[in-house]
Amino acid sequence: MKTTVNFGRAFILIVVAFFNATVYGQSVAPIDEEGGGNYPATYNDAKTPCISPLQYEMIEKNIKDKNEKLKLKTGGQRTTSTAFEWPLQMAPGFNDCNYYLISNYVDEDATTGIKDYNCGSVTYDGHRGTDIAINPFPFYKMDNNSIDVVAAAPGTIIAKQDGHYDRNCAMNSDTANYIVVQHADGSEALYWHMKKYSVTAKTVGETVATGDFLGVVGSSGSSTGPHMHFEIWANSSSSSLRDPWAGTCNALGGTSWWARQKPYTEPAVLRVQVNSVLAVFPGCPTTESPNEDSCFNSGGTAKFYLFLRNESAGDTVYERIINPDGSTFLSWTHNSTTSYLGSYWYTTKTLPSTPGVYLYDVEYKGTICTKTFMVDCAALGLPAMSGSMGISVFPNPAGNEITLAGEGLENGLYSISLKNLIGQIVTTTSLSVQNNTAQKSIDISGLPAGVYLLTMQSCNTRIVRKVVKQ
Ligand SMILES: [Zn+2]
Repeated sequence: MKTTVNFGRAFILIVVAFFNATVYGQSVAPIDEEGGGNYPATYNDAKTPCISPLQYEMIEKNIKDKNEKLKLKTGGQRTTSTAFEWPLQMAPGFNDCNYYLISNYVDEDATTGIKDYNCGSVTYDGHRGTDIAINPFPFYKMDNNSIDVVAAAPGTIIAKQDGHYDRNCAMNSDTANYIVVQHADGSEALYWHMKKYSVTAKTVGETVATGDFLGVVGSSGSSTGPHMHFEIWANSSSSSLRDPWAGTCNALGGTSWWARQKPYTEPAVLRVQVNSVLAVFPGCPTTESPNEDSCFNSGGTAKFYLFLRNESAGDTVYERIINPDGSTFLSWTHNSTTSYLGSYWYTTKTLPSTPGVYLYDVEYKGTICTKTFMVDCAALGLPAMSGSMGISVFPNPAGNEITLAGEGLENGLYSISLKNLIGQIVTTTSLSVQNNTAQKSIDISGLPAGVYLLTMQSCNTRIVRKVVKQ
């Protein structure tokens, strides 16, 4: 059996090599970049305001009731004790190089025009917060609880809601899953649009420290995709709106509320990955498929992906494949011709023929993002690390039982969990991998029909598969 497979693969390689040499030869210039462009950030606009007037009334009423009950301050001014840290964090185990884009600031223009704190136009008419979108693969990140909303400053939870639908793509009247924290000086921060059932178990009246988990970034309420709307009030009235960003056109806040204010634009590589097949991003509300791989055939091809923030026309991105000994196997550049808030580019390259652990290294404006990948894992005796290699789940769609089978896995103990699409864990079990192979059947007869995410996790490996129960 194994001989047949190897022979088949070798035969295909020979045919491909022959075809390339004779048909394309050297006469056709290699295509340096095959695809990419705008990677749309999820953000709202004037037609889809993050918070409706009715919702502001509702929050104010909630807060007023709690203020009276908790005997908290009702009027405050900023003090340095409320200097904010960044309100989002990558969850433990998630390690993209960066993960966010700022898609809207506070609109400082009182008329129908728009103007952000820096006198630019990164806002929409009437916007009252900072929209921080997560890129790339926002729904994939939401499904995997990759990006946490955390307290920007210490304070008391003064309002919260959870249980609302979180895969919205357009204007609607549903309330978001949210938290309001009142700081020691009476100022308040609204954290809006969180994932359903992700909001902290802490109750109204309990305190949070800077960096404490508040929830997971989602798309609840009036929202066009997973992002966090972060809004500041000087006191408990929505009329006391403040803009935390210090800048020439900030008429609402004066000095910065940030402990370390981020620059207006932050060009960076958010993520790089190496694929056998294309990544898929179908758009809201469908979960994207990064389709990242870690093992490739010797001398085969792979697609090299990069995802950027604040790309500007005229910029150059430097890409390299680095050999196991640190020398460069191949280098090329991406030359920007258009400016984007979020963008992605990919190109196919022929891989080295020598088995080994290689590095895809991307440098852009002083930021570096790298990804390890392997050529000929079998020869190296190495397991697949993550992504779409490793395990299969069948049958899928499934009936009352699924079987999980894998080869080339790292030996050790794995936890297995099955989550529904609102993020609740519905089944857990464990699996011991020996001789790099595994097989296990899981009873799912008690689960309702629907889509589930199966996660298989060890210290070094995390594999996620979609399972449909009929
Ligand atoms: Zn917003």
